[in-house]
Amino acid sequence: MIYDAVAGACLAVIVFLSFRGFNLWPIVLLGGLLYFIVRMNGGLPFQKGFTRVGRGVGTANRVTFDKIGGQKTAATELQEALDFLAHPEAVEALGIRPLKGIMLSGPPGTGKTLLAKAAATYTNSVFLSASGSEFVEMYAGVGAQRIRTLFKQAKDMAKAESKKSAIIFIDEMEVLAGYRGKHSSHLEYDQTLNQLLVEMDGLSSRDEIRTLVIGATNRIDLVDPALLRPGRFDRVVRVGLPDREGRYEILKLHTANKPLAEDVDLAAIARETFGFSGAHLESVANEAAILARRAGENKIRQAHLREAIDKVMLGEKVTRKQTEIEKHRVAVHEAGHAIVSEILRPGSVDSVTISPRSNALGYVRHSPQDDIYIQPRSEMEKDVAILVAGGVAEMEVFGESSTGSADDYDKATRTARQMVMCGMSDLGIVDIQLIPSDVIHRTITAITQGQIQRVRTLLTRHRKALEEIAAKLLEEESIPGEQIRQLASLPTVRPRSRKRSVEARP
Ligand code: ATP
Repeated sequence: MIYDAVAGACLAVIVFLSFRGFNLWPIVLLGGLLYFIVRMNGGLPFQKGFTRVGRGVGTANRVTFDKIGGQKTAATELQEALDFLAHPEAVEALGIRPLKGIMLSGPPGTGKTLLAKAAATYTNSVFLSASGSEFVEMYAGVGAQRIRTLFKQAKDMAKAESKKSAIIFIDEMEVLAGYRGKHSSHLEYDQTLNQLLVEMDGLSSRDEIRTLVIGATNRIDLVDPALLRPGRFDRVVRVGLPDREGRYEILKLHTANKPLAEDVDLAAIARETFGFSGAHLESVANEAAILARRAGENKIRQAHLREAIDKVMLGEKVTRKQTEIEKHRVAVHEAGHAIVSEILRPGSVDSVTISPRSNALGYVRHSPQDDIYIQPRSEMEKDVAILVAGGVAEMEVFGESSTGSADDYDKATRTARQMVMCGMSDLGIVDIQLIPSDVIHRTITAITQGQIQRVRTLLTRHRKALEEIAAKLLEEESIPGEQIRQLASLPTVRPRSRKRSVEARP
């Protein structure tokens, strides 16, 4: 509005002066240039600085700790730290120095924002959130100004709502608080971080409105150590990926408002979703409901939840026109993965599919297992063998492999590299940084070649089964693990504890 009025007034002055015979071209050009620069930078430099940065959360959107699954340790640690806001007298009586900041660190979608919101509910504080990137501007001093505004805004909000405390949540902390001096272009970042430190240093438990800053980051390694020293972000709370129990709790929370059929077994879904974050699990529950609706059913069945897992992991099913030879290649590739997986880990294949999903042309679904956090060498070697098996099967049947194995080989070499780092290679226990790259390359190649040889021997022995499984896949698109075991004459054994994974052919 104001811009329109100013622009109109300027235009009127220009027209008036040009009638009076003034040469206005230099002024018009300069004005145009200034307008262009301001637009390119998304507004006047001070414009955002004095406006609100953070967003408050209304009472209707309040989150409580019992709405957060699988983060018991993080929630307990956080609750302890919050006592100075919730029970200041008790904390002061023991002479405990109040905390000024808490840093939540962990992978995306694990519930860091939820924890911060629950902290505000728990302490009956106002909640103001902002993202680290909102403080980053080209103009020196703007970020620092926004920090000052944010702290003031939190206090004003608390006063307006008659609350005694405020929680400021800053997401993407690594953007705002990266190592000082690392940004070569200008010192704006450093000024912003310094301002945050100044504001935090100024906080006191005797303030009229007690303020706590909760930061969140996926990259704690990038955060300036000055921010993590005692007296600032005293506590770093790790918010990790949920374990099986945690996943079960999260699934229960996100299906509580959905109609579930009798056959739904959330514990089994939790077993199948190793490595999923809370956000992934929320998406699984939501996608399952969408699939049920698509199928015209009024309850979510186990099959919907299982398909939702594939969808979240690999993307939506796609209808892609494939040539017969291409389809045959995918079938052989997936059959290779499945047979080798069954030989090395009996009972491990749940199903094999060649219907494409997103980037994957086919995939092997493994049986749900217990979570695994450490692996011995023999299991790492099996991982490499199963990963290269698709490409080796293609070599066996077609005499050459294809670009479809690129992702498998990438994962296989990464696994082999991890083996080198863990002292599982012929190099022994080494500092990988000090080893010449050609030596590392040779060692990784030796590991992968060894497994390629192993797989070749296995597939030659099971060549007939390989072709039979591929033919069945071409016929039926998807076959269960039981049928793979029958066709390959492999015993049906209760699967051992293994982490869940999918070998998808991109
Ligand atoms: P990012 O690091 O990407 O900002 P985040 O760790 O802050 O992610 P949230 O924003 O808290 O993650 O979570 C995103 C969504 O995922 C939530 O709204 C919720 O639906 C779901 N979610 C994540 N973790 C949990 C959990 N532990 N319990 C229940 N739901 C969860």
